[in-house]
Amino acid sequence: MASQNIYSRKISPKEAKEDFIFVLKNKLPFFPPIGTNFELSNENISREVMVKSYPCTCRGPDRPHEHYFISWKGLEAGDKIEIAKDSESKYNLQIKYGFREVFD
Ligand SMILES: [Zn+2]
Repeated sequence: MASQNIYSRKISPKEAKEDFIFVLKNKLPFFPPIGTNFELSNENISREVMVKSYPCTCRGPDRPHEHYFISWKGLEAGDKIEIAKDSESKYNLQIKYGFREVFD
C-alpha cells in the first residue's frame, strides 16, 4: 500500500520552534534504526539526519517514556510534511506550505 511508504504529519508550534519533526512510535519501522544516519532531501537541500529519542514525562512523572524525532530546520507551525522512502538510506521530504494561519 502506498500510504505505508510515506510518513506525513502537520508541524506543531513546538516542532517549528525547536527545529524537529516528531516521529510517532508506531512509525519507527518506516525509518532506519534510531541513531543510524540517512539522507533526507528537500528540493535542493540534502542533509544527513537520524532518528533520535529523548525521555519525556508529558503523561506524568509516573509514566516516563521516549519521544522520537528528526532534526530539521526551517519548518513553520502548520506546515504539512511528507517523507517518502526512496531507498534504505535515502528519504525525500516534501513541505506543503500555506496552513500557517491556523496557528496565528
Ligand atoms: Zn511524552
